[in-house]
Amino acid sequence: MVCRRVAPRGFTLIELLVVIAIIAILSAILMPALTSATDRSRVTECRSNLTHIGMALKMYYNDQGDWPLQIRGLYDAEFVTDRSILICTKTGVPYYYDRPDQTMPNERFIAACCPPSTLEGDRPHGYSKSFVALKKGGEIVEITGSVP
Ligand SMILES: [Zn+2]
Repeated sequence: MVCRRVAPRGFTLIELLVVIAIIAILSAILMPALTSATDRSRVTECRSNLTHIGMALKMYYNDQGDWPLQIRGLYDAEFVTDRSILICTKTGVPYYYDRPDQTMPNERFIAACCPPSTLEGDRPHGYSKSFVALKKGGEIVEITGSVP
């Protein structure tokens, strides 16, 4: 009886390279989708923050008879207990704030992720194309394209 030794069979280099290439292609396909989903969740968080800021501003106005000078006035006067809602989740910078006055139309932005004059390409959300804003009337909008 002849006893033949069978060499243990592993992966060849070609098989290993094919597997690595497939993983690279799949991750290249999935990464933009995951990045986009992360940004959509940040936009939702900014919408939520600006909704809270809008309510806090109304309460501040009803209580004090005037608007706060700065957005952090909402925290200082304890109309907001969590300071992090005053900060855009993408930029990490406090929301832009334009102190409202009586003559200002309700369509005017009073708070936003960035100054409304910021050009597309420099904005925080949607591949630097959009930002979220609070209108004086209380409406929350995501602005893409030129500012109305
Ligand atoms: Zn934002």
